[in-house]
Amino acid sequence: MKQIVTISGKGGTGKTILTAAFSAIAKNHVMADCDVDAADLHLLLSPDIKERHLFQSGLMPKLDRERCSECRQCVDHCRFHAIRDDLSLDPLACEGCRFCEYVCPMQAISMEKKNTGEWYLSETRFGPLIHARLGAGEENSGKLVSLVRKEAKETALKQGADWVLIDGSPGIGCPVIASLSDVDYAVVVIEPSLSGLHDAGRVIEVAKHFGVKSLVVINKYDLHQGLTTEIERFCGNRKIPVLGKIPFDKAVVEMMGQAKTIMETGKSEAKTAIIEIWNRLGKMIHSSGIKQSNANA
Ligand code: SF4
Ligand code: SF4
Repeated sequence: MKQIVTISGKGGTGKTILTAAFSAIAKNHVMADCDVDAADLHLLLSPDIKERHLFQSGLMPKLDRERCSECRQCVDHCRFHAIRDDLSLDPLACEGCRFCEYVCPMQAISMEKKNTGEWYLSETRFGPLIHARLGAGEENSGKLVSLVRKEAKETALKQGADWVLIDGSPGIGCPVIASLSDVDYAVVVIEPSLSGLHDAGRVIEVAKHFGVKSLVVINKYDLHQGLTTEIERFCGNRKIPVLGKIPFDKAVVEMMGQAKTIMETGKSEAKTAIIEIWNRLGKMIHSSGIKQSNANA
């Protein structure tokens, strides 16, 4: 089984469109949406949720009014001003540091786990999808990504899948690092812009640091041929293979509007380019002995 993550230096480069297209081509695979802060793979795959689970992370104080002597020590000592004058809690201000529990002379405060999101096991027209939703403003997205990855891998092992196709998080933060762990390849999607190249360079460095080989796809390459050439030079200098280039194609936007992948349209330049990219990726990992699902235009 091979695990392939699609990542980008910043959001909006087309990594989810590419992951969804891969999932439409690949046979016998499991998908994981690890962009838990702004999950959107489900918009293209219309999942039918089979299992729904709570995600708990962090701690939140719970005050026992029966025991409380209203001494207000917790109010005075909370440096985040998370306990209000009426002793109610401001959950957005609370950092879960437990100091209120420590200072309370009446042992009236206990810490409880917080429900900060949900994760789902779903079925889609292309196979199982593990995805998640983190509550607004909640932290620990890296931990939720690790959970999604673990569940996706277990599902894949159970069904004897050949692939785990992962839509990673953008950027270089904690959720990206969690997206990269234990994968075989990172497909880095870059758009031809100076900021796109700069951000992609950073995420390629992160992948390298964790021993993950990067493969580059240039999306909407024809919007700026000069910068596309610069990206190719950048990759050539670092011996990073360019898997392919996808042209700007209105069909991608049209299919998104219909909640479908580009692979579900008729003939399209972007579709043809993605098929070539997939087949090139398959050839690159052929030596590992995995069965490759070749795609035809
Ligand atoms: S856990 Fe920490 S931040 Fe939250 S209310 Fe208690 S002292 Fe304040
Ligand atoms: S420190 Fe404890 S006893 Fe004092 S007000 Fe807070 S909860 Fe009540």
